[in-house]
Amino acid sequence: MAIAVSRGIGVGPAVFLPAFDIPSERRELATDLVANELGRLHYGVERSRSHLDKLAHKASAGDSISSIFDAHLLILDSFVAKVEDRIQSSRINAEWAIDEVLKETLERQGSHAAEHLREKQLDLKDVAAGIADELRNSDRVNIPPGSVIITREIRPSAVMEIARTAPAALVTRRGGWTSHSSILARELGIPMVTGAELGAIRPGDTIIADGYTGEIIIRPGGAALAYFRTDRHAKVPFISDPLPQNETTTLDGIAVTIRVNAESSRAYQTAYRAGAVGVGLFRSESLIPKSGKLPTEDQQTAAYLDIADAVGDAGVNIRTFDIGPDIINGITSVERNPSLGLRSIRLSLAEPELLETQIRAVLRANDQGNISIVVPMVSGLSEITRLREVLHAAADSLAINGKPPKIPRIGAMIEIPSAILTAREIAREVDFFCLGTNDLVQYLLAVDRDNERVAEWYQTLHPAVLRAIREVVAAAREAVIPVTACGEMAGSPFYVPLLIGLGIRELSMSGNSIATARRLIAGITIVDAELIAIEALTGKTAAEIDSSLRRTYGERWPDLFPEGFLDSPHS
Ligand code: PEP
Ligand code: MG
Repeated sequence: MAIAVSRGIGVGPAVFLPAFDIPSERRELATDLVANELGRLHYGVERSRSHLDKLAHKASAGDSISSIFDAHLLILDSFVAKVEDRIQSSRINAEWAIDEVLKETLERQGSHAAEHLREKQLDLKDVAAGIADELRNSDRVNIPPGSVIITREIRPSAVMEIARTAPAALVTRRGGWTSHSSILARELGIPMVTGAELGAIRPGDTIIADGYTGEIIIRPGGAALAYFRTDRHAKVPFISDPLPQNETTTLDGIAVTIRVNAESSRAYQTAYRAGAVGVGLFRSESLIPKSGKLPTEDQQTAAYLDIADAVGDAGVNIRTFDIGPDIINGITSVERNPSLGLRSIRLSLAEPELLETQIRAVLRANDQGNISIVVPMVSGLSEITRLREVLHAAADSLAINGKPPKIPRIGAMIEIPSAILTAREIAREVDFFCLGTNDLVQYLLAVDRDNERVAEWYQTLHPAVLRAIREVVAAAREAVIPVTACGEMAGSPFYVPLLIGLGIRELSMSGNSIATARRLIAGITIVDAELIAIEALTGKTAAEIDSSLRRTYGERWPDLFPEGFLDSPHS
């Protein structure tokens, strides 16, 4: 079933993107991606074939130039058959299969091949390079503004690139509400639907993508077009009119701090105008370009200074790289279970140069003392202890303008079940918690947050999730440290009253969510929120809690949750 993950309606012609960015490295494919990879290969082969056809026909029939390209066309067919076999048998990406088959063929023929064979080898290399080039070019699809982008899966860097073409909507097969691409689409205001059936869509078809309900209409009639272009928008409540000061309080006067998840001074300034106070989560991996090349210490220092200058006393929480080895070229190969693998703080600790460079950059940028470090994927106290050792060693070796650097505060991302169960021990050793609800749900319920096939099991309202949040808040209160909720739950109007009722007083969200969240908070009382949370905590299943919340919201706050608004809490 398709899921709405970013609000809005997009109407426009379908433009297909290749499923993945094209790596120049070996990539193992899950079984269900093999057919997709063969499709990519055929795309490259067909473009290569028509290019060779054109070259052969430019020359007059029968002459030597024409015969060279005719020969290439013959080589193409037999070569492609071998590459297809390789993709299927080894389950690897097309580029790598091309490379392997080419090398093996050349090796078999030997380096001392006779002259005529050497010519053939050159032809073969030419053909292989031609297909690889076409595969690479397929990444640079021409996207007219207003297109509905259709793709099996999209990476965050591609969302950023596509945003420049002002697309009408994004429609993907894979991905979930908390996938980073969905988060970006919401931030950039691009309607997005995932889990969609793409089989019936053809390039150029008019598509309506409803980012409120997840509905996809292929080749709509005139009535549907008129409805979606006009009336559908009118049914969706839109809360603008930002509150005057950057202070958010409930109706009964309890302050709730609203921070933004942002990575640049520009994004912060926009969020500040909407009412944000500081950056609750700076995902530092956003500084890593598509090529995977890590930013240098100077580049990182500049980026951290940019945000530190913008936020002033309100502060910024810079999270160390939350990435797997697949992102960085050359560190290790792709893993079988990436979200349980050598990623995040584990990777940083395993690659001292990576962590030390980042820590030095933070220390150099922290001359105002307004930067905090957030440690992602903390499984227990030991990662915090090790991080502190690296931090102090780096601080000891660094003098800023002749003075020792200011030591940043340290926060732990709480997103792994073992961290919840040891939250009291961790709380005593850190300055604050960041509650990463996106991963918390993933790891607590053992459900891949990026896999739309298990979206039904990704239950933010599972009783275990609510109890976990309650435990984390209790541990933080005992140690007198703040908890910032910074997953997607924190910016969703549907979950905000519940989080507040569970004791959360700091929410960090995407810039686009701030105005609505503030207005909502200003319209509720802590007492009501707590009653709602108490009732929710008695629920036995996510479905039960979900329907009790809908009912209570509708009865208690009909003005804040008008009819229709609760249809799509996830968008
Ligand atoms: C989270 O896990 O909730 C979170 C805020 O971080 P990310 O989405 O980057 O994993
Ligand atoms: Mg996380």
